[in-house]
Amino acid sequence: MTSDADALELRRKWRDANREFEANDCWGPDDGAPFRVTPGTRRVLVIAAHGVTHRRGGETKENDANTGGLAIVLAERLGAALAVVRRAEESNDANWAVDHPFKRSVEHAGLLVPSTLVIDLHAMADRPDGIEVSLGWRGHVPSKVPARILADHLEHRDYCVDRDASTTGLGANGPGTITAWAQGHGAVAIQVEIGHALRTFGARSDALRSGHFVADLATGITAAAAADDQ
Ligand SMILES: [Zn+2]
Repeated sequence: MTSDADALELRRKWRDANREFEANDCWGPDDGAPFRVTPGTRRVLVIAAHGVTHRRGGETKENDANTGGLAIVLAERLGAALAVVRRAEESNDANWAVDHPFKRSVEHAGLLVPSTLVIDLHAMADRPDGIEVSLGWRGHVPSKVPARILADHLEHRDYCVDRDASTTGLGANGPGTITAWAQGHGAVAIQVEIGHALRTFGARSDALRSGHFVADLATGITAAAAADDQ
């Protein structure tokens, strides 16, 4: 188990990594490439496409707070590949448009090889039913066992999980979702929706729990990826 000191250190790293996504009132930094796409040492790819404010069909959509920094910290801890949107510009939502420059950049980097485990991070509001994490994998057969292992792992650590997004309805079902796109390329893919309390940088008690959540999510992803290797 992760110590409280390690959890707080993870949360500190998360907070630091998230600052670039908070630039310009969460529209992201003016400088540098709009996307960051880096290879990893294992067949896991962590994605956050909504870490900054973005547009969908002409509408402005609020950012999924703190998911960009979480993707960076998770990928580093896992030795995984990383793909994050740093600045959405005028392009449509990468989790909505079937053809999107963010998706093309991941493809061109060669990160979407078959049987890669893709974890696509998103934010949901806190829910009255207490669900803290919702896993959307669209009934995709190859994604079923890894999703089950991740759900089992998180439940074992006392998080309240919607194992197949059947309660939240956040099932990644649209044709342009990151999850649908990755599965279409032969990857195993799971959309991970995270409640507000687990990704806040608020009071110390929340900070401790959100720090532990990074560690727990990382070990759950490692277990899910190992199942996929069998
Ligand atoms: Zn989202």
